[in-house]
Amino acid sequence: MATDTPFSQGLAAGRLRYQRCQACGAALTGQRYACTQCASTRLAWCDAAGTGAVYAVSTVHRAPTEAFRALVPYTLVLVDLDEGPRVMAHGAPGLVIGERVAAQPMQVDAQPLIRFDPQPVR
Ligand SMILES: [Zn+2]
Repeated sequence: MATDTPFSQGLAAGRLRYQRCQACGAALTGQRYACTQCASTRLAWCDAAGTGAVYAVSTVHRAPTEAFRALVPYTLVLVDLDEGPRVMAHGAPGLVIGERVAAQPMQVDAQPLIRFDPQPVR
């Protein structure tokens, strides 16, 4: 993974970032050059609260790299952040679709990543 993007620099600092369009206010999934709603290129990086709801869950049995091999089987989730963007990250085993989750920083082979755990009930 590239380490020179605002997203990865945010991760290294323990922050989950997303882009928001300064023209129409849309929150964007992924890293974009232009807004998917209005095509404006006035995009700004914002810090997400890190909370959201599970959209999809999958279990990985074949690790993509040696560093991840020690983790298998592990859980990957797609999470709809409360701000709107959808992100892929690691997840606690047993998460189910629709479950409320909160992001925690994690590292694999010195690479900063995100893991979603069940959100504590307040
Ligand atoms: Zn826009």
